Amino acid sequence: MLHFDVMDGIFVNNISYGLPLLEQVRGATEMILDVHLMITKPERYVERFVKKGADIVSFHIEATDDVIGTISAIKNAGAKAAVAIKPNTPAEAVFEFLPLLDMVLVMTVEPGFGGQSLIPETLRKVEIIRQKAQDIGLDLDIEVDGGINADTAPEAKKAGANVIVSGSFLFHADDMKKTVELIKKGNKC
Ligand code: ZN
Repeated sequence: MLHFDVMDGIFVNNISYGLPLLEQVRGATEMILDVHLMITKPERYVERFVKKGADIVSFHIEATDDVIGTISAIKNAGAKAAVAIKPNTPAEAVFEFLPLLDMVLVMTVEPGFGGQSLIPETLRKVEIIRQKAQDIGLDLDIEVDGGINADTAPEAKKAGANVIVSGSFLFHADDMKKTVELIKKGNKC
């Protein structure tokens, strides 16, 4: 799938792109579009991102006072819903929402910029969330995002992540296709 990072310059200190680009990407590919909203008050925009082609919408629980309403808005619009947490947000912060979610996105770097190194402590949160999901019988996707390369992808998988985002590592690779295969291979049990 294609991971699509939207930054508003407020929730994170960087601006990327938004709805018009998503619409164009949607018109160019059948790939699953996994939209990661790093924006303040995402409830204002989630329906529009689904309308423009998002298959999965992730938003940060730190960015809204209405997590449940935002999850409902995404699902009612016809997409899968995920919440994202920054490195300093505890794993337990997502527990109450797990039964409502398709996926949890654990940021493995501070959101806002590419090319950072994975913060090892964040993988402990992946373990905690995976354990909790198992305890309550949920088949939950757990996604990691930030600092993922051929070395860190297997560690993330071992911690319980099954959706792996890689940006800089792939874009700087000589052969992106081979590098994706390398990550997937290293990522197998
Ligand atoms: Zn992302």
